[in-house]
Amino acid sequence: MKRPIIGITGGYAKYDSYSKGVFAHHDYHHSVLACNGVPLILPIVDAETLKAQIDLCDGIIFSGGMDIDPFFYNEEPHQQLGELYPDRDEFEIEAIRYALAQKKPLLAICRGLQIFNVALGGTLFQDIPSQVENTFNHSQKPPRKRPTHWVYLEGESRLKQIFETDKVRVNSLHHQAIHHVADSLVVVGKASDGIIEAVEYPNHPFAVAVQWHPESMTKECALMKKLFQTFVNVSGQTI
Ligand code: MN
Repeated sequence: MKRPIIGITGGYAKYDSYSKGVFAHHDYHHSVLACNGVPLILPIVDAETLKAQIDLCDGIIFSGGMDIDPFFYNEEPHQQLGELYPDRDEFEIEAIRYALAQKKPLLAICRGLQIFNVALGGTLFQDIPSQVENTFNHSQKPPRKRPTHWVYLEGESRLKQIFETDKVRVNSLHHQAIHHVADSLVVVGKASDGIIEAVEYPNHPFAVAVQWHPESMTKECALMKKLFQTFVNVSGQTI
């Protein structure tokens, strides 16, 4: 049987003047490999080429990374806004719209969840600690794999089907979060302080977005491994 090809959107990183370019944390491709998928890192390209990239893939992971330029949801920059790379924002907004139109399975992670919401018309909190009252710490210290807070799953959802439980313990490496949810997305998980931690796009083979980093938990946590395995399996079914 053909192994599903899983595209992973790449960010930009600069290590020194000799080493700069596409970056994707290795936990993404390690988790895809652990589920028998074929990982492929996608560089930022123009709108036509990205369609060809997505056509090649059986499923797409929208990976974590820098903050999203608030220009894309019509806000001015907050004082605590982090580092930006607007070329990536533009690429991923187009990629999400195209992947949805093609019914391509997608798993959006951390920044991926945020850009998913922005691509469909939603907005973000640019900095949780200074913009939302009575929240707990969502920017944990390493190691990435360590779970630090609970997520409570709401309603009937793909995630609840996969996890077969009402709450999961997750890691948390974000200072931004969804503010206004895009009309076409459904909130399916929240933290106890009200921060949105999971959304889904209904009537699609698999379009799940999580605010935590399951790719860094698949070795230790059977539930996160099952999330990845289900995504890779659904991607395989569309081949
Ligand atoms: Mn969190």
